[in-house]
Amino acid sequence: MSYVGPDFEPPRPPRHPLRGPLTVAVAALVPGALVGWLVWQTVGDSGGDAQASPSSASSWGKPATPGASDDGKEQPGDSGRTGDSEKPGESPSASAPAASGPLKGKVVVIDPGHNPGNFQHTSEINQQVNIGTNSKECDTTGTATNDGYTEAKFTLDVARRMRTVLEKEGATVKFTQDGDRPWGPCVDERAEIGNKADADAVVSIHADGAGAGNRGFHVILPGSVHSGAADTRPIVASSRELGERVAGSFLRVTGSAPSNYIGGGTGLDVRKDLGGLNLSTVPKVFIECGNMRDSKDAAQLTSSAWRQKAAQGISDGIASFLKK
Ligand code: ZN
Repeated sequence: MSYVGPDFEPPRPPRHPLRGPLTVAVAALVPGALVGWLVWQTVGDSGGDAQASPSSASSWGKPATPGASDDGKEQPGDSGRTGDSEKPGESPSASAPAASGPLKGKVVVIDPGHNPGNFQHTSEINQQVNIGTNSKECDTTGTATNDGYTEAKFTLDVARRMRTVLEKEGATVKFTQDGDRPWGPCVDERAEIGNKADADAVVSIHADGAGAGNRGFHVILPGSVHSGAADTRPIVASSRELGERVAGSFLRVTGSAPSNYIGGGTGLDVRKDLGGLNLSTVPKVFIECGNMRDSKDAAQLTSSAWRQKAAQGISDGIASFLKK
């Protein structure tokens, strides 16, 4: 997942075991998700994704596994990091805003987490940058599935699929990186790209690296931070609205459940330690699409059909936010 350095582990809210039907928590905090969630629970996944079959729903209702809360610390040397063969510069589609569409005039910045080249540039990505509250690594390599499918490859693929969807609706889409640079950018530059674009919405794409058995997606919202160069107070409310819409659409389109290990079943988490959020002056959220270290989640994350649903779900949430 994202940018959790070994030197800074912020206090996190206690993770409560799920105390009631998941639908209650989802309904309370992710209103847009409710319809899709209920339909999914009632009729199963009509989208035909066998990997998200209702039979696996029982495992999502279990209390979070004590101690299994690795929230994405991406340890150097983790296995499977070398399986990414993607070369920089592979960019299947050029950005070409549609002449018209419901999102005409809207600017969306997509931030594909990490960079496939980070593995070869550890000294560069380990340099410290100022994120307002403190200093932190420029970037990390990201995680990978046990079979070596890297988070960096995943994020670029989903981001490119999102670009196609959003441009068809008329949005102007910009990337923080498109596999077109050797490493990075650093988290402060990632934020700066969204700020300079005066983006109407920014979404940072990630997948988590938690322990096996931890499943599901969660959207990370900026907490209220006012320290140094960071001042998220103007974007906390708008980012929450963006995040709730993204979570609801992601749930509806993919059929995936909210995380069973972060967010108490809401699919939402709030953090104050991510430079990419702290330094943003425009509405911005992260999404952790699933846990690459869980075999069932990994089966989804490595499926191109599932990634298309993920991209559609995130894009629908962004569009909903922009049309409000
Ligand atoms: Zn990440």
